[in-house]
Amino acid sequence: MKNLKKLRTKIDLVDDKIAELLRTRKNLVKEASGLKEHIFDHEREKEILERNQEFKDIFQLILDHSKLSQLKKRNNIVLKELIKKPLIIAGPCSIESKEQIEKTCFFLKERGIKIIRGGIFKPRTSPESFQGLGIEGLTYLREAADKNNQSIIVEVMTEKQLELIYDHIDIIQVGSRNMSSFGLLKAVAKKTAKDHKPILLKRGMNAMVDEFLKAAAYLSEHGNNNILLCLRGIRTFEQINSELRNTPDLAAILELKQKTDCKIIFDPSHATGNRRYVNQISKAALQLGADGLMVEVHPDPETALCDGQQSLNFKEFEDLLRVVIN
Ligand code: PEP
Ligand code: MN
Repeated sequence: MKNLKKLRTKIDLVDDKIAELLRTRKNLVKEASGLKEHIFDHEREKEILERNQEFKDIFQLILDHSKLSQLKKRNNIVLKELIKKPLIIAGPCSIESKEQIEKTCFFLKERGIKIIRGGIFKPRTSPESFQGLGIEGLTYLREAADKNNQSIIVEVMTEKQLELIYDHIDIIQVGSRNMSSFGLLKAVAKKTAKDHKPILLKRGMNAMVDEFLKAAAYLSEHGNNNILLCLRGIRTFEQINSELRNTPDLAAILELKQKTDCKIIFDPSHATGNRRYVNQISKAALQLGADGLMVEVHPDPETALCDGQQSLNFKEFEDLLRVVIN
């Protein structure tokens, strides 16, 4: 017992030293960040991980924290100011590269779009599919959006991801697959209790409207009512031999408007899964009273790593704006 105590005292001393070294590292990173053009340097990160193979996982964490510490903290956006009907959120399904998101943010800024979507942790059906760039993707998105004075919305799938990126995103997205992850909903509710950061909750693809509203109630349970309810299509028999990935749940707009004060966003990209139908469904959603749209846009949908078939290219997005903005 005595020995254990002694060893623990020694371990505590080592931990103190590690913490001190991490502090020194953080200060050096801060100094270096003033000399670099971009936060993320692929080659440099690879080199550090290779040099520290033995503790690769720990170093990956250190590097992720270090990247995040170089991003500016943001003030909360005020949703009410942004919802000048219709609110249009646009951007790629996933962040794929610095160039991709820089091009997209700039294009969207020129068209007046103030909120950019972009996945960094992707909920993919197959583990073989592209899973997102993680924190690397966030640095690209944050930098590109800041340059163009835009806010960002990013999906989190776990509480850990929420903690990691919370200070650097403007709207938290809870995706369709996690609408019923009550642990995650509770964590998001608790985390946003103090600052009321906006949350966009997507309807589960198999969820009833009532279940959707109850999931939203989990989010507001600590007083944050800054919730956007996002309809994104549901699974029905229509998907058999159909060009539609989901059935656009347009009538739910009418019902939600009766039952909640939350703003309603319609996602025509996932609701149809087919770019050919995006514009008409968007128009219908707004006519039925949706407060806004969340649309997937990509500079070159043919090469997209995720959801290219439903993403609009820049020209198609301009057509959409003509259709939905008078
Ligand atoms: C998304 O918006 O990136 C997404 C994955 O959508 P959903 O959760 O609706 O499938
Ligand atoms: Mn997508």
